[in-house]
Amino acid sequence: MTSIYLNGKLYPPDQALISVFDRGFLYGDGVFETLRAYQGKIFQPDAHLERLIVSAEAIGLRLPYSKEQFAAALMLTLNANKLSNACLRLTVSRGSGLFGQELNHCVQPTVVIMPRPAPSCPLEFYQTGVSVIIAKTRRISADSVNPEIKSLNFLNNILAKLETQKTQAYEALMLNPEGFVSEGSVSNIFWVKDGVLKTPSPGVGLLSGITRKVVLDLAGENDIPCEEGFSRPGDLYQAQEAFITNSGIEILPVSQIDDHPVKKIPGEITQKLQRLFLEEIPR
Ligand code: PLP
Repeated sequence: MTSIYLNGKLYPPDQALISVFDRGFLYGDGVFETLRAYQGKIFQPDAHLERLIVSAEAIGLRLPYSKEQFAAALMLTLNANKLSNACLRLTVSRGSGLFGQELNHCVQPTVVIMPRPAPSCPLEFYQTGVSVIIAKTRRISADSVNPEIKSLNFLNNILAKLETQKTQAYEALMLNPEGFVSEGSVSNIFWVKDGVLKTPSPGVGLLSGITRKVVLDLAGENDIPCEEGFSRPGDLYQAQEAFITNSGIEILPVSQIDDHPVKKIPGEITQKLQRLFLEEIPR
């Protein structure tokens, strides 16, 4: 039986209930993280909790716990569910207030941690790769809701993901308002062209993924030439290798971008990074 963490206590799923006045429900007013645990240990907990703190500060949400208290709550949930390989979704909303926009009525943020078993996609996808599309939905501008804020306000990403339904693509990539490639609806994108690993620069407007940073660090430490930049879809269509990353899927090869097949699935650089990534995982 799954246990859900809610404001300091563990509950069975049907008893983990929040108020209809909760602003996370009413307005998507809150922040979240999805963390990965391997062998009962959380991967990159500091990086995730730092990002949670930055996201919360950006929306003026005062977090109710310290980093250490969040880490303890995550471990409590992981252990209570007897899961060693898992994804943990940590949600913090601004909490319940009166019905309306008045923020001062919210005194107590809501904290929820929900576990699910990992990995989050079929293993054969790591051999066959997955297809992605470039969505018509543009990534929201950093002047509106900065994509660096991992917020509950997810409709921009959901609208892009909805576009995959026609073609059964696995992921939808978004361009920024100026037409530069930014990121997937729940992932960051990398590709290889002429031996150089490429990924959009944070300046394009994207969520700087924890997995993205691990990949960039591994590339740097292992002499894989790497460029963060501003790229058009045409550059991506010529990729010799491509992959998407997030905490749940790790490094997942891409086989096709719109109608353009990717030449190597998974290619040599992708495989090398997958091997190096495995070495980073807690055992
Ligand atoms: N970009 C978006 C929009 C995401 O939602 C996510 C993760 O859910 C990522 C990138 C990848 O982030 P991470 O590697 O920290 O899981």
